[in-house]
Amino acid sequence: MATKMETKNLKPRPPIVVVMGHVDHGKTTLLDYIRKSSFRGGRAALPEAGEPRSVAEREAGGITQAVGAYEIIHNDRKITFIDTPGHEAFSKMRSRGAEVADLAILVVSADEGVKTQTKEAIDILNEAKTPFIVAINKIDRTGGNIEKAKNDLANSGVLLEGFGGQVSYHGISAKTGEGVSELLDLILLAADLENLTFDPSAPASGYIFEVRHDSRRGAEASVVIKNGILKRGQNAYTKTANGKVKILENFLGENVNELEPSAPALILGFEKLPQVGEVFSTEPIVQTISVRRILAKNVIGGAKAEKPALNLILKASDAGSLEALSMALKAVDRGDKQMNVIEESVGDATDGDLQNAIATGAHIIGFKIKVQKGAKNLAEAHGVKIVTSEVIYDLMKAVEEFFKTIGKPVAMGELEVLAVFNQKKLMEQLVGGRVVLGTFRTKASFEIARAGQGGAENPVGNGKVLGLREKKTEINSAEVGKEIGVLASSQTAIAVGDRLIIRK
Ligand code: GDP
Repeated sequence: MATKMETKNLKPRPPIVVVMGHVDHGKTTLLDYIRKSSFRGGRAALPEAGEPRSVAEREAGGITQAVGAYEIIHNDRKITFIDTPGHEAFSKMRSRGAEVADLAILVVSADEGVKTQTKEAIDILNEAKTPFIVAINKIDRTGGNIEKAKNDLANSGVLLEGFGGQVSYHGISAKTGEGVSELLDLILLAADLENLTFDPSAPASGYIFEVRHDSRRGAEASVVIKNGILKRGQNAYTKTANGKVKILENFLGENVNELEPSAPALILGFEKLPQVGEVFSTEPIVQTISVRRILAKNVIGGAKAEKPALNLILKASDAGSLEALSMALKAVDRGDKQMNVIEESVGDATDGDLQNAIATGAHIIGFKIKVQKGAKNLAEAHGVKIVTSEVIYDLMKAVEEFFKTIGKPVAMGELEVLAVFNQKKLMEQLVGGRVVLGTFRTKASFEIARAGQGGAENPVGNGKVLGLREKKTEINSAEVGKEIGVLASSQTAIAVGDRLIIRK
């Protein structure tokens, strides 16, 4: 930062703030209160702001809704708020490396304390390294008591100021407005620590965070400007859409000639709708090959991927959830590995999805969906992993785990060891177990995975299947569900609970 300061004429820019927290803890109420109280003041942010009522009416007309962000003035300084609370907004913003928000407010209800989505929000914020301030809300209900929330936060690893940490907090009531002004003070203090700047001579750039098609006006893109000065008449580019800034509107829906960071803005003039989460710039953005095209080469053409790749099929309950899932997964840390989305579609996981997964070596990630019975059976028999959840964050975690294990060939057969019968000679160990995945075959090599000692990622040993028996009969292979006896050779003593994994 400091070296840039010397070489470029950087100017300070206001913070961009997102509000997160558990459902019903008051995110929307807080965003509404902040927006309305700033209007009531009739501040400089609103040129010639008229009666508060007329402003409210314009809001009711959906103008601020279309932009999805607003700007306020507090202590003569601007703050931009992203007006979409919750995970979805955040995962969209984090997509494609976009880090729109400079700061977050974590809303925790004073009476309920930390809940599931509070914890998820904490994890997301820590992972994205987004600084945050805690707003302990609904103090009107607890008579100002915020001890429960503070204790819960400490137990969730949030180290508050004065309790061994640096995270600022304030008790507020989003309903009455008590404490909100002090909360805004804290945001400005936190922003000062971040040293937020922009370069006025750079091409304007920022993030697209909402798009819609207006039948009269065409493609409308809501953006937050993060660098440069955006001017009417300039070209505008994202990876997927080009155009010109024919009309530039501020967050109040007023026509303007130019806007500086961190202002929210509406751009009219894209030839087609850009995608939410994309970076836009007034200079062309270098095109990269889309995931789908890489995929076509790898899967259809049969060419080998240069990097280890994870193939996924995405399923979700509806189009909005599918988009949110797709974007959230793009933000998952994948090291130098590649993610191929084979297909994404709405609806439960079906036989067809499984056939597709088997053919392409993909796993299935499902958001708010069910897995049909036939599909479940196919998955078990072929070692296709299906992960479903109602919470996007769980799915992100699961995909992150997948990335840790890829590069290794997928398991073709897996036996859970239920008994050890004879271990006098390590080269002729006799064990019994149940086939839990794929097919277990004689003459195959296996890895020994031991829970609590590295699992499948770090096997404790390996070995070879010398023979298989079902009851008294010798067999060559056994399918999922069969209980069999296995004669195996290994340097490692196989133990009850181990999994013997055959990979190819
Ligand atoms: P969100 O799901 O986090 O956006 O929560 P909302 O803002 O929709 O609030 C959920 C409920 O809590 C609504 O009924 C609000 O009126 C109420 N609420 C929000 N903030 C406060 C507060 O400070 N005090 C009280 N008593 N109720 C609040």
